[in-house]
Amino acid sequence: MARGRYAGRHGLTIVTTTLHCCTFSWTVQSMSNPLVEYLKATKSLDTAATEFMWRDADSHLTFTGPHAKASFRDGDYKRRDNNVGVIAVEASKLACANALIPLTPGDADGNWGTGSRFRRALLSLIQPSSMVLDIHGMTDEHGPDVVIGTASGRAPQWLTDCTETALTKAGFVVEVRHTGPLSAGEKTLTWSLAELGHHTLSGVR
Ligand SMILES: [Zn+2]
Repeated sequence: MARGRYAGRHGLTIVTTTLHCCTFSWTVQSMSNPLVEYLKATKSLDTAATEFMWRDADSHLTFTGPHAKASFRDGDYKRRDNNVGVIAVEASKLACANALIPLTPGDADGNWGTGSRFRRALLSLIQPSSMVLDIHGMTDEHGPDVVIGTASGRAPQWLTDCTETALTKAGFVVEVRHTGPLSAGEKTLTWSLAELGHHTLSGVR
């Protein structure tokens, strides 16, 4: 995919860049917030759009962190999940994958319903039948250290199996349950992308 700026299918102006397996160039724009400063410092930020950073690796795998910034869910303020923007971007670099995170607080929760600009941006950028890993944070009250879900089992079993195998090999104790302390229910990004034929995993830590 050529480096450049273009309007996505839904009319959003999004900055893209070409990444060749984790080597990339970058430029700095005059934006000032901690996440942008981090991305600049680690050279993860190519060119910042005003709302989102899209890291384009021309991959079928995309990491998303819709809660990297605060938003509103059904009219209620929703605080950001700590560090998920950094995690999504760093994970995408390791996996030579795409990443999409918000850089500014949004008016609609990107993980809730179908009306957010984040969701529209994502759908305008990812390839058909993509795999999307949606990264979130959670508080200690939920119990497990890490929760990975596939929208109530709606993702294919092979995807769950692959994930379990990989994490087990990496030394993690993995328990597969169809219900857990958190779920990717009907209004979540994970669920709605699965409805559109994408393979989705939602992960929180
Ligand atoms: Zn979240």
